[in-house]
Amino acid sequence: MKRILTLALLILTACSPAASETAPAVAASLVPTMAPTPNSTAAVQVESATSTPVAAQPTADSFPALAAPACTGFTPENQEGPYYTANTPERNSLIEEGMQGDRLTVIGYVLDVNCQPIANAWLDFWQADAIGEYDNAGYILRGHQFTDSQGRYQLETIMPGLYSSRPIRHIHVKVQPPGGSILTTQLYFPEQPIEGLTLELTQSESGYQGVFNFVVR
Ligand code: FE
Repeated sequence: MKRILTLALLILTACSPAASETAPAVAASLVPTMAPTPNSTAAVQVESATSTPVAAQPTADSFPALAAPACTGFTPENQEGPYYTANTPERNSLIEEGMQGDRLTVIGYVLDVNCQPIANAWLDFWQADAIGEYDNAGYILRGHQFTDSQGRYQLETIMPGLYSSRPIRHIHVKVQPPGGSILTTQLYFPEQPIEGLTLELTQSESGYQGVFNFVVR
């Protein structure tokens, strides 16, 4: 009987509150070691969400679909004219607030003699405004840019107006591949085409879109 009582006492002691409190103590000791893991994972996720993929996507998405280039010889030179201004601002869009005119986007590649895209080629555009006037004091409708890693450029502008001394719609441009020579030429429109220098032009609700690939030396 005494042994049974002793045994019962031992069992009671093992199941007493004092014994069961050790379990939360152990669990509590696990919490600090577990807690940093979800926190650090969250931190990594936030970091990765704000780094490369987010920055890369708008560039790819904002570029209109462009057919694979086909090359038929070098792009011809064309007269520079009297209105070139050097040291233009670097920008893809020449459109400024309040600017009049029909929207025009010109896209394409800069390509080498083997029809391979040239990354980081310099393009400097200048043109007349919607009523055929150049800004010869500042940089309105003037700007340079560089082709992207796939050799593409994209110009946001307006349809150039006609001016009395040259009644043909055109956009002036200089193109230079890295380490190469400068091609000075002009882009024309299908209404008055010039061989080798005419944009493929389409029109949609958002404006005109022109495609032109430069092949440079
Ligand atoms: Fe001109």
